[in-house]
Amino acid sequence: MLASLKNHGFELTMDPKVAEVIIVNTCAFLTVASEESINRILDLSDFKSSGNCEKLVATGCLTQRYQDSLSKQIPELDGMLGSNGFEQIPELVHSMYEGSGHSQVSLHKKPHYKQFEEQARIQTTPQHFVYLKIAEGCSNMCSFCNIPSLRGNFSSRSVNSIVTEIRSLTEKGVKEINLISQDTSSYAKDFKNNTGLATLLKSISKIEGDFWIRLFYCYPNTFTTEALEIIAGDTRFCRYLDMPFQHINDDVLKAMNRKIDRAQIENKMQEIKSYLPDAAWRTTFIVGFPTETEENFEELLEFVSTGHFQHVGVFSYSHEDNIRSAKWGDPIPNALKHERRNKLMEAQQQVSCQRNKDYIGKKMKVLVDGISEESELLLQGRSEFQGPEVDGLVYINEGTARPGTFQNVEITEAHTYDLIGRIV
Ligand code: SF4
Repeated sequence: MLASLKNHGFELTMDPKVAEVIIVNTCAFLTVASEESINRILDLSDFKSSGNCEKLVATGCLTQRYQDSLSKQIPELDGMLGSNGFEQIPELVHSMYEGSGHSQVSLHKKPHYKQFEEQARIQTTPQHFVYLKIAEGCSNMCSFCNIPSLRGNFSSRSVNSIVTEIRSLTEKGVKEINLISQDTSSYAKDFKNNTGLATLLKSISKIEGDFWIRLFYCYPNTFTTEALEIIAGDTRFCRYLDMPFQHINDDVLKAMNRKIDRAQIENKMQEIKSYLPDAAWRTTFIVGFPTETEENFEELLEFVSTGHFQHVGVFSYSHEDNIRSAKWGDPIPNALKHERRNKLMEAQQQVSCQRNKDYIGKKMKVLVDGISEESELLLQGRSEFQGPEVDGLVYINEGTARPGTFQNVEITEAHTYDLIGRIV
């Protein structure tokens, strides 16, 4: 959206006080996210009286999910765009200043990646790392998830356009490319021509240079041995695997429509470990799913306590009106959901702490992010085992380095989430 606006002559600002048009890109994955999005829109509408704001626009999943009611509920909105067709944002802004200035909702049934194939990009992350979306939507239909209804069926971006963008980013000095999508393992499945994630990884592997590629959101069922072999054969693919499991009990997995059971998950993990024995695993779990019994939760707790994972995200089940698991209602009280979440997090904290201690005395390649947010006397960075924004950090208390450079760091201390070390 930023690139489209800039190419159409708009001047961009991050300061809502001076902006004449304020655009809020919203999330509506969970009720809590919808509420946060609405509050943000309402907060920013104050700039119509206290700032320069002439037009307020909402885009993304909130407008996609509540298209009919949103303009009535928030009359301060002048324009709306759904979660697709973002390239239409300049047209939408122009149209708000033309004629009667009526609100416009522009919705596409299916996500389409055509607009990204040749589009310029404005990088909003620090100069040395980016997120690169390789597909949009999802065709998995997990019963607790409304993403397919908000973002449509799985739709991949072409190998050529992704590789061209990575090449251009690495030439500009980007050192870490984080591949994201709702289901990275299924990349290119929609092309129906035998292209797959392995094809993409093979093409990326041909790009020369010293940079990291990190894969997020690898759905376990469709992650292939071929993809694994390519990752194992090129050390620029981070030894890091983000593979959301959501639960481990067979009955809950079935009710979640995850199309996988515990034995298959364990087999997949074993296969991956045989190729990448040192990889850091990240996963996510949902507690408080409507059919989750105390025994089901205990099984999950025991699984996490075994110590497979470096990083775990735990979410309390959120009852939504547009998901298939809504048929079971929301029988587990919030207090019990929170208790289960806390128990799981505490079990994982012990695991994370122990795994971090195992790094003491080891040397690792660290990508320096810059001066630490904690203290000007420290640098902060990340090893290949730590993804940006979601995982812990490596704090460096000896040695100097420029942001965006790789350094060899010896780990001297370990905490639950973070490591401390010195440049050697
Ligand atoms: S794979 Fe992820 S995005 Fe797709 S339906 Fe399941 S939870 Fe939602």
